[in-house]
Formats: sequence, C-alpha cells, structure tokens
Amino acid sequence: MRKPMIAGNWKLFKTIEESVALLDELKPLVKDIKNVEIVVAPVFTSLSRVSDAVENSNISIAAQDCYWEEEGAFTGEVAPKLLINAGCSHVIIGHSERRQYFGETDSTVNKKVRAAINAGLVAIVCVGELLSERESNRTFQVIETQIIGALSGFNADDLKHIVIAYEPVWAIGTGKTASTEQAQEVHLYIRELIAKKFNPETSGAVRILYGGSVKPDNVKNLMEQPDIDGALVGGASLKAESFAAIAAFNV
Ligand code: PEP
Repeated sequence: MRKPMIAGNWKLFKTIEESVALLDELKPLVKDIKNVEIVVAPVFTSLSRVSDAVENSNISIAAQDCYWEEEGAFTGEVAPKLLINAGCSHVIIGHSERRQYFGETDSTVNKKVRAAINAGLVAIVCVGELLSERESNRTFQVIETQIIGALSGFNADDLKHIVIAYEPVWAIGTGKTASTEQAQEVHLYIRELIAKKFNPETSGAVRILYGGSVKPDNVKNLMEQPDIDGALVGGASLKAESFAAIAAFNV
C-alpha cells in the first residue's frame, strides 16, 4: 500500500560539516528501519556533500525549494535539474515559511511542482491553514484552494511523483500538535478531494504526511490514523536521536 515517509526539514540550520556530522550519527541509528522512506532536507549549500554522505544508506536527500525555470537570468534561484545534479531525489515546495516570508503563492507552487516532477524529482507539496483561518472555520476551504491551486493542470500519472504534506501553520515550531482527530479529518478531506479531482485509485495511492511539532512521543498516535502516511519534521529532525526515534515509529 502506501510506504510511510518520514522527512526532516532542516530549514536554515547547520553548516556543511554539521550536516555531514548529523548524517554520520543518523545513518547507524536508522539503518535497520525497513519499509519507511527516510528523507532529509538540508540547506542548498550542503546538498552535494550530504548526497555523498548518504550513499549506500537508506536516507534520501531533498531540497527545501526550487525554481520553475531550467536556466537563465534568474539571480539566486536553483533549478530542479541542478538539484538532481547535486544528488537530490526530492524537493519540498510551498512550505508555509516560504508562503509567509517569501511571497510563495498557489500559482508559484504549481509552477515549481510542475518543473520539479518534469525534471524527475518527487515533490513534497505543503498545505496548511493559519490559526485565524481555523478559528473562523475556514480550514477546509483554505486546504481545498491550496490543493486545487497546487495541482492545477496535473494528471493522475503526475500524482505518482507528488507527496502532500498537511502542516497546520499554528502547529509548526510551536510545540502545539494538531490532535490526531484534527489531523485525520483534514487528511481524509485531502484524500477525498484528490479522489474527486483525479480518481479513487490515485487518491488511495497518494501519500499525505502530517507536519507540526511531530516528536518521538506523538508520532505513533498520528501514524495510527488511517490517512496519515508519514511526517514532515522540523525541530526534532535536527537531532539524530529524536529523528531516528520518529522514523522508528513502528518498531
Ligand atoms: C516544518 O518545518 O515543516 C515543521 C513541521 O516544523 P516543526 O516540526 O518544528 O513544527
């Protein structure tokens, strides 16, 4: 069925040396974990070196963003094919911090996802509501707009290269986790949306990760929910021990 994915978003933390050191610590801790896809997303400058560091391990590398053009006069941007060149297999797109601080919109997310999967990357597409949106009962409406916007123009085959991450913004880096019920109902809603927009087979196969203060002590309950297929982890991915414990949720 759906292979669980545990992905660590290292955000703007760690030098190249610190990133490699973290992976050197992590590799032996997760080496026996089977049937879980383990991914980490370091900063751009570390990607090439960490890709070498995870060779022959069960850890894959993601970038935290990409641009939608292949090349050109786009100062500061990084194209999907260059991420592949640096050893990435995955890319996170539309993280709420990019939406909040860097003007990411559903339309730019859509273009980036298209470019990423055309280049051969798996796109981890983030959606999630703000606290004010949840409090005004607009969670489902916001999620629907983000999902429809991100996936506009895609077909069922494209969905094989896309993972959705539901990350309620109010739960990111705050220590507040959505309750298992709150998370499950949004995951189910996303799966139903995908069934409507594509087909039931695609919806049954797409992986939907939960993100927002996932820790070793709450991952098991979250992963027991029928529509939660993994986790996108920020803070707890910066320590080998806690990230390994999350990846070992079913051991
Ligand atoms: C994230 O950055 O995607 C995230 C979920 O962060 P945290 O686990 O720290 O809440």
